[in-house]
Amino acid sequence: MFKRILIANRGEIAVRVIRACRELGIESVAVYSTVDANSLHVSEADTAICIGPGPAEQSYLNIPSIIAAAEVAGADAIHPGYGFLAENARFSDICSTCGITFIGPPPEVIDRLGDKVAARTIMEDAGVPVIPGTRGAVTKERQALTFAAQAGYPVIVKAAGGGGGRGMRICYTDKELTQGFQTAQVEAGTYFKNPAVYVEKYILNPRHIEFQILADQHGNVVHVGDRDCSIQRRHQKLVEEAPSTFITDKTRAAMGKIAVRATEAAAYVGAGTIEFLVDEAGKYYFIEANTRVQVEHSVTEAVAGLDIIKEQIRIAEGETLSVAQRDISLFGYAMEFRINAEDPANDFRPTGGTVEFFNPPGGPGVRVDTHIYSGYRVPSLYDSLLAKLIVWGRDRTETIARGKRALRETLIEGMATTIPFHLWLLDQDDFVAGRATTNFVEQNYKGV
Ligand code: ADP
Repeated sequence: MFKRILIANRGEIAVRVIRACRELGIESVAVYSTVDANSLHVSEADTAICIGPGPAEQSYLNIPSIIAAAEVAGADAIHPGYGFLAENARFSDICSTCGITFIGPPPEVIDRLGDKVAARTIMEDAGVPVIPGTRGAVTKERQALTFAAQAGYPVIVKAAGGGGGRGMRICYTDKELTQGFQTAQVEAGTYFKNPAVYVEKYILNPRHIEFQILADQHGNVVHVGDRDCSIQRRHQKLVEEAPSTFITDKTRAAMGKIAVRATEAAAYVGAGTIEFLVDEAGKYYFIEANTRVQVEHSVTEAVAGLDIIKEQIRIAEGETLSVAQRDISLFGYAMEFRINAEDPANDFRPTGGTVEFFNPPGGPGVRVDTHIYSGYRVPSLYDSLLAKLIVWGRDRTETIARGKRALRETLIEGMATTIPFHLWLLDQDDFVAGRATTNFVEQNYKGV
């Protein structure tokens, strides 16, 4: 068993990991930047170490500082959370060189799946359906145009190293593809330090449906059901739910098996996600794998009754999974609303400042994961997530009613947040009927 875990992150996920550590009887070590000195993860952890100034490159992305903190604190493992160094193969490698367990996959697995081109190839070879696209990276415009001529427009140019909804360009004509291709290559090199791009068919009105995976070091792999993350803005998720209303139980079972096969093909270890797009006809295609715990893991926890962070820690300790596939069953419906410091009435412009007053919702079926409190000052340097509201109900109707009730109870004074957007969404007939695709927000939301 680990004695002490350092959490190389901040915000709600750092608090979430501290909670798991405490339940497991493991000491927690927080690291923080100077602007986060008053953060909840700092006061909640057993020990806290300042690792540098506000800009992430000098603190939360500063590998030598984090390793030094782990050594000073005597931590035997590091949990990277999501974002920052969570999918950094070099960090995973340095941890193991220093004799510290990285709670996540080994470096070669991160490399294999972090490169979307490499991941597509592994999946194709394993018989996992992938979106029709170029095999391998495309370096010449001509290759992109040839693919588009065969597959038909629209197509999407994607960065092999892309993430966070960035590095994608939809093209409807040869002219757009010629222009988009060059820009995509330059941007990929600048933002992701990997100029490789590839082209795939742009699926019209798809659903984003992903599977939570757990894989131990002994070759056991299970999936913990699906999450529908179709409510997005600029390819970034705003609301997630489990299970998806769009797929039948038969499709769900088939996709789950494919997700397990994809995990095995990548020799994956840890908690991870296999993401698919599902087209209007119900055909599903792999898009990418995420080698970390995701923001939306909590909706799976709500319907599966499983603590994914604790499972992740147990896997890193070398334990076998606590559950077999037959032990996993989903009960009810859960939704997660990302409450961001963004103004939905103003094109989701970032807000921020001081939380003058915070009153979280409560009552049956409500969970709030957050790091904010009354008087907390939101630093402008990091992401805009203030809180995750997760609601659970026996059926989707109850979940929606509970969502509305809990969103109305949530008081965050001092800044605009995405709460009015969520309330708008829960009143939309198409959303309530389960008809929303990944384009729903862009097509229907005009601000509230
Ligand atoms: P990221 O790693 O940046 O999250 P993904 O590959 O997971 O990128 O895609 C994010 C979102 O972008 C998807 O959920 C979907 O909305 C959209 N998307 C990506 N590829 C396609 C595609 N081929 N066709 C249609 N939409 C796509």
